[in-house]
Amino acid sequence: MKTVALFGATGSIGGSALDVIGRHPDRFRVGVLSANRNVEALADLCARHKPDVAIIADDALRDPLAAALRSRGLTTQAAAGEDALEQAAVDSRVDIVIAAIVGAAGLRSTLVAARAGKRLLLANKESAVMAGPLLRMALREGGGELIPIDSEHNALFQCLPPQHDSGAMPGVRKLWLTASGGPFRGRGRDDLRHVTPDQACAHPKWRMGRKISVDSATLMNKGLEVIEAHVLFGLDADAIEVVVHPQSMVHSLVEYVDGSFLAQLGQPDMRIAIAHALAWPERIEAGVSPLDPRTLSLQFEPPDVETFRCLALARQALRAGGDAPMLLNAANEAAVAAFLEGALPFLGIPDVIEAVLTELPPQAVVDVDSLLERDLTARRAAQRMIRERGPSAVSHQT
Ligand code: NAD
Ligand code: MG
Repeated sequence: MKTVALFGATGSIGGSALDVIGRHPDRFRVGVLSANRNVEALADLCARHKPDVAIIADDALRDPLAAALRSRGLTTQAAAGEDALEQAAVDSRVDIVIAAIVGAAGLRSTLVAARAGKRLLLANKESAVMAGPLLRMALREGGGELIPIDSEHNALFQCLPPQHDSGAMPGVRKLWLTASGGPFRGRGRDDLRHVTPDQACAHPKWRMGRKISVDSATLMNKGLEVIEAHVLFGLDADAIEVVVHPQSMVHSLVEYVDGSFLAQLGQPDMRIAIAHALAWPERIEAGVSPLDPRTLSLQFEPPDVETFRCLALARQALRAGGDAPMLLNAANEAAVAAFLEGALPFLGIPDVIEAVLTELPPQAVVDVDSLLERDLTARRAAQRMIRERGPSAVSHQT
């Protein structure tokens, strides 16, 4: 029986993870559930899954959480804040940590779980992007195993040779990340000037949180994933390609030097990757209806990096090295939040990111505290640029 700590339980990944875990009560029990601010949703999940501990991010919500748990007749302990997440990540009763918080808020707990030697199921790609060298070091020191549940990286994990943990990739020529293309595939810049947050979040294939949905619409999600693949599998930027595949059935491919390509296919449903990572190297039911290969018609095309500039900016940050990927991520989080609030147009997102990367030259990644200080500097720079630009100004670059 493995005990699971699920950070970000009230989100889209959190819901998929609880669905898979709930199908296997003989294998997994929920030890810890966490959420940002939604006390009632967290308490409802506790009533269903009976964890030992429930963690709310905001300290001021600890007492309301305790009351909500009591009113449901639960013995689950209420905790709050970053410290509580870190304690849960090192708790000897916890075997598996699922990092499903969105954004930089997931960084510290992800690193602590890696250093504690847990099996770390990584959904929070932002922490790999921000702190790649620190994450790799934490995994080495802690002896834990990271299994990606971002669908593309989980697909690559499944198709790569087993030696890939050691850093060596014998026979691998390239990684090919597939991208759905998002809701605006095929559109040009003129067509994107006035798109709304709801249009950007209407993803054709995946139901996800709003931040990653906007990232999918700008193709920044794929840019972050190129960096994530570099961090997890050690290949250079030039050996990590992106191909648009609108059906989202092929989740990524590994190209070998002999000309073989290995791909992982499945329905666009995150429960497949989550079930794989929970049980690996075994296989368990994920609750997903199988694909019928006789009905497949698969299409592949190159990404339009002129319209969707974020993908090129992410590659630029990866090549620049140091903490440039973290600066990119911070600027992107600030710009996406502003877009979702109506304070920045869709095409302003890459403009702000590019301006932050130009203003702040990269520095070496030393430790998590200095990294988070620089993260704050990048966010402040982005927010200043967003204020200066306002809700409608967009560069006329084509
Ligand atoms: P979501 O917005 O649906 O859920 C986010 C979760 O994080 C919620 O439980 C929320 O309460 C918690 N949270 C938010 N801010 C927090 C904070 N400051 N402190 C503590 N907790 C906080 O997001 P999601 O779509 O589930 O995505 C989660 C992560 O997984 C992201 O990093 C995303 O890129 C990645 N991911 C998601 C999908 C998907 O299909 N949804 C696929 C691949 C990767
Ligand atoms: Mg993905």
